[in-house]
Amino acid sequence: MSQRYYIVGNWKMNGMRAALSEARAIDRAAQRLPKVEVAIAPPVTLIAAMRESSTGIGVGAQNCHHAEKGAHTGDLSAPMLREAGADFVIVGHSERRADHHETNEQVKAKAEAAQAVDMGVILCVGESEAERDSGEAEEVVARQLAASLPETAQRLSVAYEPIWAIGTGRVPQVSDVAAMHKRLRAVLTDKYAEEGADVRILYGGSVKGENAEELLAVAEVGGALVGGASLTADGFVPIIAAAA
Ligand code: PEP
Repeated sequence: MSQRYYIVGNWKMNGMRAALSEARAIDRAAQRLPKVEVAIAPPVTLIAAMRESSTGIGVGAQNCHHAEKGAHTGDLSAPMLREAGADFVIVGHSERRADHHETNEQVKAKAEAAQAVDMGVILCVGESEAERDSGEAEEVVARQLAASLPETAQRLSVAYEPIWAIGTGRVPQVSDVAAMHKRLRAVLTDKYAEEGADVRILYGGSVKGENAEELLAVAEVGGALVGGASLTADGFVPIIAAAA
């Protein structure tokens, strides 16, 4: 695969307007490192302003509704997010699967709604600690991915995020990351044939400046989805630099 590494920050429910200065600093650094594709998914409230003030990075959303419009109080559709300035959307994050009981079928529908308006999609999958401990992680995550995938690979990336590694400072063994990414690649090529070989598979879960280089060097790791460390330029830029 000759694609650039894709380094994406997920700001979750963090960031008031003052945080745009961090995004601008990240943007300036990203423009000096053109070999890396960089993006941030801020809260929806910051999408338009970040899009205007940071021109060298992608700006995305953390979720979308699968319908185009309708009686869904408080929800936002993919076309609305696109119009607000988002060029990709994260779907199926484990926090949404847990907090909002999102199913694989809903995740698939969200991904297809985003693709319908030509947005990129980052589809998240990952196992719980109990599933990892019982030796079922690869099986569980492969099934989750197969059931969540949209019908086409258009602008699709996948993020493997072990739930127990998110925000905990713990990361899997490099050999476990390699085995999982290999397995997920097989799911992607089963579904999309040769196009499945070009879908980037990001690793996510406690990525920091200190461990980024080692994780990015793993076969089939095409980038990183970064939570906590992406909130500041000091945290995020070293990760981007590790990918350059
Ligand atoms: C995430 O939630 O997508 C994530 C990877 O978080 P963190 O980097 O903080 O573990």
